[in-house]
Amino acid sequence: MRLNLFWVRLAFAAFLISLAINVGWMVIGFDWRVIPAAIAGWYLADMVSGIIHMYMDYRPCRPNMGLDRLYFYEGSRESAEYLQLRDATLGRIGPIERLVYDFKNHHPRPDALGRRSMLRQVGSTVLSASLPFSLLLNLANWHAPVPAWLAALLITFLIGGTFAQYFHGSLHRGDVPPVVRLMRRLHLLMTPAAHDLHHQTLQRDFATNCGWSNPILNTTFRALRRRGRLADAGLEP
Ligand SMILES: [Zn+2]
Ligand SMILES: [Zn+2]
Repeated sequence: MRLNLFWVRLAFAAFLISLAINVGWMVIGFDWRVIPAAIAGWYLADMVSGIIHMYMDYRPCRPNMGLDRLYFYEGSRESAEYLQLRDATLGRIGPIERLVYDFKNHHPRPDALGRRSMLRQVGSTVLSASLPFSLLLNLANWHAPVPAWLAALLITFLIGGTFAQYFHGSLHRGDVPPVVRLMRRLHLLMTPAAHDLHHQTLQRDFATNCGWSNPILNTTFRALRRRGRLADAGLEP
């Protein structure tokens, strides 16, 4: 099932307006604590993106749903046969299972993610999480102003979480907008070379925003593997 782009556009516009109002409130109450809090929010978003990525990569797909046929399909992925098989197979499973499949499918075919439009990449996150979360922060501010440092932490967390899939996709395409190139130079986003370390082994560097949380996530991954968790069998359907 594909999200209706009309609703995605509407939700995205509402999200940007709601976010701008939150930023305005934060600027009014600005003090020095805003800076470290904003950095902490950016770090947390990176870490959450990495935890979700690690979990999705290794969570086994439900067997006997035909996902293996789809994953290992050898003919053209633009053929009518494949598209029919894809729609029928993905139509049988729920949204979380589709997401799990998407993460695994990304490894042998990484460029497909980069080819999707930004709205397709962030649409479901905006509708299900970012817009409600930002509206709640508007409401909280309306009721009693949230301290500026806390608002800053929540805002950078929100931006990092919302655009996580877009940032990941941009690591798999050459033509990225100037803002992404600038953020890479400032180390606020990771580079394609740094993300390539994940694709080489699928055992490290799961965070795909700035990558600041990868050292601690890599330690966590190794500890979980020593306990027999996150088995390789989960990587493919
Ligand atoms: Zn992965
Ligand atoms: Zn990737």
